[in-house]
Amino acid sequence: MYVEETVVIVGAGQAGGEVATSLRQQGYEGRVVLVGDEAHPPYQRPPLSKGFLLGKMQLAQLYLKPEATYEKFNITLKLGTRVTAIDREAREAVLQDGSRLGYDKLVIATGGRARLLPLPGVEQRKLGNLFYLRSIADVEAMRARFEAGKHLVLIGAGYVGLEVASAAVQLGVKVTVVDVAPRVLSRVTGPEVSGFIEGVHRERGVVFRMPAAVQGVTLDAAEEAVREVIVAQDGVEDRIAADLVLVGIGLTPNTELAAAAGLAVDDGIVVDEMARTSDPAVLAVGDCANQPSAYAGRRIRLESVPNAMEHARVAAATVLGKPVPSPAVPWFWSEQFGMRLQMVGLSTGYDRCVTRGSMENRAFSAFYLAEGRLIAADVIGRPADFQAAKKLVAVKAVVDPGALADENVALASLVG
Ligand code: FAD
Repeated sequence: MYVEETVVIVGAGQAGGEVATSLRQQGYEGRVVLVGDEAHPPYQRPPLSKGFLLGKMQLAQLYLKPEATYEKFNITLKLGTRVTAIDREAREAVLQDGSRLGYDKLVIATGGRARLLPLPGVEQRKLGNLFYLRSIADVEAMRARFEAGKHLVLIGAGYVGLEVASAAVQLGVKVTVVDVAPRVLSRVTGPEVSGFIEGVHRERGVVFRMPAAVQGVTLDAAEEAVREVIVAQDGVEDRIAADLVLVGIGLTPNTELAAAAGLAVDDGIVVDEMARTSDPAVLAVGDCANQPSAYAGRRIRLESVPNAMEHARVAAATVLGKPVPSPAVPWFWSEQFGMRLQMVGLSTGYDRCVTRGSMENRAFSAFYLAEGRLIAADVIGRPADFQAAKKLVAVKAVVDPGALADENVALASLVG
């Protein structure tokens, strides 16, 4: 008897959705079941801290594909459904209602959750004005509270924090950003770009308290809202009154399912170049996966849409038995105050930064070199630079710093 093969995908996010549609596009003919615990079909998260928070995008515009597409592709969507365990011996995913879904291949695409701010003794869930930002539900909970004149204390000066700062200012909300680091985006960029971005935010009235450590919060009498954020700056304790608090201090990958099933986990679910975990019948992709990177020369876990999409296509090809290695060259974009920032590579360990263009005109690129090789670039308002930089960074090209800085030399001419 012919038994149809089944791929079960756990997590209907950016990567999970792309695995499902990619399987069909690449010719997979078996059953595809996409299980997600959110109420929505796969959607894009980037607008959550940008256009959707600003109210400029409607819910349906977030969806990666209309629901009808999944039907057309014969993909079974099981939304609002949590996978609670993976039984590798039986090759079954266990759902929250106790039912089981048999699989031939399982793809874990569980993403991550916002990292919690340690606030000992405080029941954060009960606080109506303390927010984290990962999902549509999170934005829906906070958006109506972003009223002109309110004061938002943003904990974390990373991308999500700065994008929310930009949106909040545009909504008339006053913003104070607190971070333990001495400068914004300190984990991902050099001081030149940090200084520039901080300057743009300051011009729009954002106040920075950095480096400052959050010591705790004070609550209202009912213990249902934060009243003040307590910070220590230069050894002095201070209290910042807050109407709203948003914590954006990073992501914790959702690896518990994999770990409980005995799969290797080390800052993400450990996978090979083809997205296979330590069990070849189980793959993992996107934010939850830790993959080898030829570019980085080590294992990395990436948190970005391009990685989620590329990694998903790699997994689909692996399922189909025509494996292609993951490219895993990190790239990312952000939008703040109408500026588009694009980054490629990892600048960690650079020994020289060369800039091209004009910070005043908000059109410049910062190139990061290590021992003469281009390892990363941050590009603001110069899309052509970005396209060339992607190619140069992917091969860590040896480039003449003078040519990088000289606007008369076309960057594209340095490629190849
Ligand atoms: P997710 O999209 O998080 O999807 C995982 C899904 O799995 C979720 O729906 C989750 O609820 C579900 N799930 C988890 N466990 C289970 C379970 N046991 N059972 C069923 N379902 C489960 N990237 C960029 O490149 N550019 C940007 O500008 C950018 N901006 C961002 C702004 C915000 C506010 C956020 C939150 C992220 C942003 N990102 C951006 C990052 C990007 O969205 C992520 O890298 C991407 O969504 C990762 O896709 P993923 O599928 O791995 O995880």
